[in-house]
Order: sequence, then structure tokens, then C-alpha cells
Amino acid sequence: MVITGKTHLLGVIGYPVEHSFSPLMHNAAIAHLQQEKGAEKENLPNYAYLPFPIQPERLKDAIAGFTAIALKGFNITIPHKQAIIPLLDDISDVAKAIGAVNTVWRGEKGWHGTNTDAFGFLAPLEALSGSSLTVPKSWTDARALILGNGGAARAVVAACQQLGCRKISGVGRSPDKLAHFAESWAHTPHIAAKLQVMPWDALPTQMPKTDLIVNATPVGMHPKINDSPLSDDEMALLKPGAIAYDLIYTPRPTKFLQQATAAGLLAIDGLEMLVQQGAAALEIWINQPAPVKVMRQTLLNYLKTP
Ligand code: NAP
Repeated sequence: MVITGKTHLLGVIGYPVEHSFSPLMHNAAIAHLQQEKGAEKENLPNYAYLPFPIQPERLKDAIAGFTAIALKGFNITIPHKQAIIPLLDDISDVAKAIGAVNTVWRGEKGWHGTNTDAFGFLAPLEALSGSSLTVPKSWTDARALILGNGGAARAVVAACQQLGCRKISGVGRSPDKLAHFAESWAHTPHIAAKLQVMPWDALPTQMPKTDLIVNATPVGMHPKINDSPLSDDEMALLKPGAIAYDLIYTPRPTKFLQQATAAGLLAIDGLEMLVQQGAAALEIWINQPAPVKVMRQTLLNYLKTP
């Protein structure tokens, strides 16, 4: 990658941020575009993408600093996805619906925010079409069941509404957080009307009716790779052919997806979501198509998956 006096800065903020794969994926994409467009020096995408560990109490200072150094844009990870909103000048409708921002860019009128997680989540589902979609037969028939009610679950709820799912159920372990989660959709009545929340022990009655089950908890993530949010017996309650989607991308596959495959379900992991949410963000910043294949292959190489 070429860094010159004209290089613009991009980055990711989080706390901690060391675990983020975004610098790897975005810098590979930028290096690829530079190589591809090497002959047209004028249009060279001249960017570098850095990790910024920002403590929650320093978030406001960090944004003021980004304004001062004319940072072009940044991604946001835990714990800043909601806290950033009052510090921005404008957020997109999708970010408003989700209640969280994962992508920010500097425009003429200041800092703009959006959320590309729902887009990323949808990409592998939208790729399933025709005969590959057996259970459900169509998204408008589908009942989605989401395990967890944190930040990622919010993007999944919005995405399931966008898919047209008939019913969206959210399962969580804390009654207070579940109630808050349900109330937080009051500003989007079209989503609130489809969403029901329930405690974990409601799972046995919900699972046989479920067409798409999503693990939006960190259970099963490296290093606790033998954990799953569900037992083998619970997983067997799902219809064969239904879709099990784990937002986790390391390990590949997770225990949850191994159980799903054994139960005859269609398994999808979180890698494509990671790639697609990143590609959508990069396109906003550099205003040209992102090299999605390069971004995907960079992560696969890093994770040593063929
Ligand atoms: P989060 O905001 O911390 O939410 C985590 C949720 O999981 C909370 O509802 C939490 O419940 C629940 N949970 C945690 N441990 C649990 C357990 N042992 N049993 C049952 N529920 C449990 O995290 P997040 O940002 O939503 O991320 C969730 C997962 O999605 C992570 O693995 C993350 O890496 C992944 N993710 C992937 C992508 C991607 O691009 N593929 C994007 C975003 C997130 P409590 O509140 O009760 O603790």
C-alpha cells in the first residue's frame, strides 16, 4: 500500500479494538485498488485504515480530534455504536431504525452516520433464491428467531423486517433487557408489530415453528469454541431445511453451526456479513465499487479457510 502526503485516513473505533479484522480487510482492499488503478495516478484511492482504541469517556474528544485532522470516515464497534449518535450531525433512516451506527463519514455538513450491518446480514440470505430456499419457501412466510438482544440483534431485527419475515421473535436471558429491547422499537411501528420477545425457556415451543434462527450472542466465539447457545436436543426441534445463521465468524464452523448441519439445517456463518458490511462502508468513503472478492479472500487467508 502506498502512503504519501496525500493519503486520507480511515479507521475503526472501539474499546478494545485489537480483535477487529477491519484494518486487515480494508487495507487489503485499498492496496488492491491502488495496484489495479496504478496507471491512473489521479484516481488512485489514497487511503489508510487504522485501529483507534477509544475509551468511552474520551469519545467526544476523539470525534473532535477526527474533525481537526480531517479523517475521512470510520467504523464503530463495541461499545460506541449507540453512544456515537448524539455526536453526529445526521444519521440515516436505517441507523435510526436500528438505533446504532457502524459507519461514519465526513460530508460538507459534518459527520454522517449509517448502519451497514443489516445490509451485510442480508447479503447471504438474498443470495439464496429459487430452489435453494426450501424452508421457508418464501421470506414472507418466514418466522425468524433471534438469540440475544444486543447491538447485532438490533440490525438482525431490522434486516428480518426488510426481508419481509412474517414474525420476528427475540429471545434473551435478562427480563429487564428484553423489555427494554421490545420498547425500543416503538418509534418503528412496522417493526414493533412483528416483533415479540420471550425468555429463553420459551424456546422449545418456538423452535418447531422457526424458519430462520440467528445466533446473535457471543456464545461459541473463539476461544470458547465448544460452547453453543443451544443443546443438540434443542437444535433437533428445528425443521430440517430451516436456516441457522451464526453471526460469529471465528471459529468456522461454530459449535452452533455444527449442530445445525447435523440436524439437517442450512448453515450460514458471520464471515460474509463481515465482508459485506465492510464493503458497503468502503464504497461510501471512496465512492467507487469495493473489491469484495479481495476483502473476502483476505479474511479467509487470515483465518486459514480454503
Ligand atoms: P452485545 O451487544 O454484547 O450483545 C450480546 C447479546 O448476547 C446480549 O443480548 C447478551 O445478553 C447475550 N449473551 C451473551 N452471553 C450470553 C449467554 N451466555 N447466554 C445467552 N445470551 C448471552 O454483542 P453484539 O455486538 O450484539 O454481538 C453479538 C455477536 O455477534 C458477537 O459474537 C459478535 O462478534 C457478532 N457480530 C458479528 C458481526 C459480523 O459482521 N459477522 C457483526 C456484529 C456482531 P446479556 O445482555 O444478558 O448479557
